[in-house]
Amino acid sequence: MADAAEVDRAVERAARAFPAWRAVAPGERARLLRRFAQVVEDHAEELARLEIANAGHTVGNARWEAGNVRDVLNFYAGAPERNHGKQIPVPGGVDVTFAEPLGVVGIIVPWNFPMVIMTWGVAPALAAGNTVIVKPAEWTPLTALRLAELALEAGLPEGVLQVVPGEGEVAGARLVEHPDVRKIVFTGSTEVGKLIGAKAAEQVKRVTLELGGKSANIVFADSDLDKAAASAPMAVFDNSGQDCCARSRILVERSVYDDFLARLSQAVREVKVGDPNDPASQMGPLVSAEHRERVASFVTQADVYAAGSCPTGPGYWFPPTVLAGSSSESFRRAFTEEIFGPVVSVVPFEDEADAVRIANDTAYGLSGSIWTRDVGRALRVARAVEAGNLSVNSHSSVRYWTPLGGFKQSGLGRELGPDALSAFTETKNVFISTE
Ligand code: NAD
Repeated sequence: MADAAEVDRAVERAARAFPAWRAVAPGERARLLRRFAQVVEDHAEELARLEIANAGHTVGNARWEAGNVRDVLNFYAGAPERNHGKQIPVPGGVDVTFAEPLGVVGIIVPWNFPMVIMTWGVAPALAAGNTVIVKPAEWTPLTALRLAELALEAGLPEGVLQVVPGEGEVAGARLVEHPDVRKIVFTGSTEVGKLIGAKAAEQVKRVTLELGGKSANIVFADSDLDKAAASAPMAVFDNSGQDCCARSRILVERSVYDDFLARLSQAVREVKVGDPNDPASQMGPLVSAEHRERVASFVTQADVYAAGSCPTGPGYWFPPTVLAGSSSESFRRAFTEEIFGPVVSVVPFEDEADAVRIANDTAYGLSGSIWTRDVGRALRVARAVEAGNLSVNSHSSVRYWTPLGGFKQSGLGRELGPDALSAFTETKNVFISTE
């Protein structure tokens, strides 16, 4: 657990490594990132096993995550040679822009998807020529530490990518405060994100904030109800609901509300919760005893419409749980606050306008799904819902080549996608007189 002085030493190393790293020829930086991706591929099973041991992810998810780290590195390995500016017509000369790296970038990571969230920041930041310090979450530092070793093995120079495990309020806070850290990418709770945004503002420090969510899954009566109900459980229970994009509120058109609930309950009872090492398990345990206690605090038996089963032995197990349609204070709390566990709340709506109103009646705005066969309605609702990542007739997970980020209090800025490097560069305009 690094203290502030250790963070300072890491920043010093990163600042020292920066001039040489930004000067590495674009093609060479690309080659190093590709080699890093290859080393990750060679250690994919080891990384997956580490994530299972540390965070309890199912083996299917953990393998996907290791593959995602490889793919994200490969995708942004294509960026250094394409990180071009513009040539803008001006009288009396030539005007060009350069996308300059920022310098030392700090990436503060939560515990729910440790290695992928780290890489979503690391890969474009390095591609743009920055040096990076990662502060993993207290509970889940293992894959981050291993990835830093693998980066060295791949040939990335010392000091270009460092991992500094430590407490948020100590190591994380020091990264935010340090004047030589030019940008913070923070993924975590909205509460801490606000603190970091305020602190960073004192130095006009650049920030990308990826925060909480309470996303709506909107099911219209004209949708393929079988498909909507069958897919709804894993849209919230994947990674045991510890997913910022979890569709944790289901809004159902009243005429099919009872029918949908019956089908949903059936699907929830079929979710296989068990040993994360068993490939048949769809859901594993929660990350810690403390987190399980927090999740349990949102569930009042009177609000429970249906629940699945889970092992009872050692482990932080919690069954997939459906809360429905009550007007109780406890239901209202579960319906509005981010639970970050396998609990979904279902309410009916009257019409399209009502659905949009309920979906937007939250401070969050991260993701959401819309189920309808009416393409006009799908587009109208997709445009009306205030969220950064929507899917129609599906619950698309994050694709690294499309942008990810939140509206309202779900965040600031975007990660991934074709424009990710713009979050790790400053635009410099240079005019050259020809007179
Ligand atoms: P958290 O906010 O408690 O912690 C996140 C990170 O910030 C950790 O590394 C922690 O050590 C650090 N931290 C805590 N206090 C700090 C401080 N004062 N200064 C600097 N750093 C500090 O979040 P968590 O519980 O680890 O993660 C869960 C949250 O993350 C959920 O709200 C979830 O929605 C959100 N999340 C968002 C996205 C997204 O892309 N929008 C993705 C994943 C998770």
